[in-house]
Amino acid sequence: MSDAKPLSFSRRDFFVAAGAASVGGIASHLVSKQIDYSGAAQPTAPATQALPAITAPPPSAATSAPQEDVGPVEPPNAQSPDAEVPRATKKLGWAIVGLGKLALEEVLPAFGVAKHARLAALVSGHQDKALQVAEAYGLDPKNVYGYEMFDTIEDNPAVDIVYVILPNSMHAEYTIRGFRAGKHVLCEKPMAPTTDECTRMIAAAKRAGKKLMVAYRLRYEPINQKVIEMCRSKELGPLRTFEASHVQVTRAPNIRLSSKLAGGPLGDIGIYCINAARYVAGEEPVEVTAMMHQPHDDGNFREVPAGYAFTMRFPSGMLAHCDCHFAAAKSARYRVHCADGYIDVDPAFTYEGLELRVNREAGTTRLQVEPVNQFAAEMDHFSLAVMNDTAPLTPGEEGLADVRVIKAIEEAARSGRTVKIGA
Ligand code: NAD
Repeated sequence: MSDAKPLSFSRRDFFVAAGAASVGGIASHLVSKQIDYSGAAQPTAPATQALPAITAPPPSAATSAPQEDVGPVEPPNAQSPDAEVPRATKKLGWAIVGLGKLALEEVLPAFGVAKHARLAALVSGHQDKALQVAEAYGLDPKNVYGYEMFDTIEDNPAVDIVYVILPNSMHAEYTIRGFRAGKHVLCEKPMAPTTDECTRMIAAAKRAGKKLMVAYRLRYEPINQKVIEMCRSKELGPLRTFEASHVQVTRAPNIRLSSKLAGGPLGDIGIYCINAARYVAGEEPVEVTAMMHQPHDDGNFREVPAGYAFTMRFPSGMLAHCDCHFAAAKSARYRVHCADGYIDVDPAFTYEGLELRVNREAGTTRLQVEPVNQFAAEMDHFSLAVMNDTAPLTPGEEGLADVRVIKAIEEAARSGRTVKIGA
């Protein structure tokens, strides 16, 4: 992989190179993404996101049951502390650590629509790329850092929050260094490859007196929030079973196919099924079973399994069965079966286009919810949590809970036995 090793370069190198930095391929790519999200032609002057108007959708062909369209549903605030805290108008400064696909294509453009977050610094192992991105976003090159210089971000008062978007194996190191530098940290999922690292990250936040949040963007998205609200209020009666699939085609070269850097489909996409089962149930699984498949004759899967199928038992009696795979056409959905009906979210885990259907004996209702930019929503949430000194909705403990389940599933798949969690 071309970016397998971070480069070492000094701040001085950046100043020298800054004048010569060209806005080439990367920058024009960023401009096109910016148009996607904000409607703005200039990446340096982000505009307000133009959200589509709510329209009554046509009846679904996917079900033979009669349909009723109840129209728009207000995004619920019950799961979020945002509504309970004073609305600050200030924007906090964010440093983006790692300029890979997610950072370039989703996170950086999301600053164009965020209300409480602004780009304040970039941290990258690739000097040219970082300078091009800085130029495209109107960032002074003095706020661009190499990994070796990351700790000096301590001296940059423009940076309040560090957002770690590196390979999973680097999350703990950069999160802990972020706290040592006196910053708050948003860390990408999965929080870390081991529960020990998660525990150390949580301890580092406490020691520093700073906040740690894990980037579970779907908790800041209104359709998933609506499902949580319906399940908590038992609108369809008690929850019985939960099923979820998150599959996609992932081919080398990709950090996800490296056992060292990321570790396969379970932590990368299976985690969405685990997290959704937990937030839908509102409780922690007590035991798991699992199987995995690793086709050793496929060069993509020399180091990691291609897929997992797993089950989870919850204390209330809810049973979950889920699968994740790196060699199957994209599907990202879940269904919650309750005593009096079932809830379908398909797609459920994507960045946009989520759809929610509620199925009762009387028919199917498709609920329409005003979409949000999930990345802007989660960054705004964390900025507000920092500004108002409130607990983020998805703190480090939430990341640790998922990693604990991942480790149990891995052990169950290895041993062929049921593995108890927290016993
Ligand atoms: P990517 O491979 O596109 O980017 C990884 C970045 O890390 C690159 O900038 C790369 O240069 C840098 N890097 C530094 N040291 C490296 C090393 N030793 N080897 C490889 N890369 C190195 O990955 P990505 O898709 O941007 O994913 C990054 C993180 O974001 C992962 O933790 C992933 O799970 C997470 N992610 C989250 C979502 C989401 O929806 N929340 C979506 C995609 C990815």
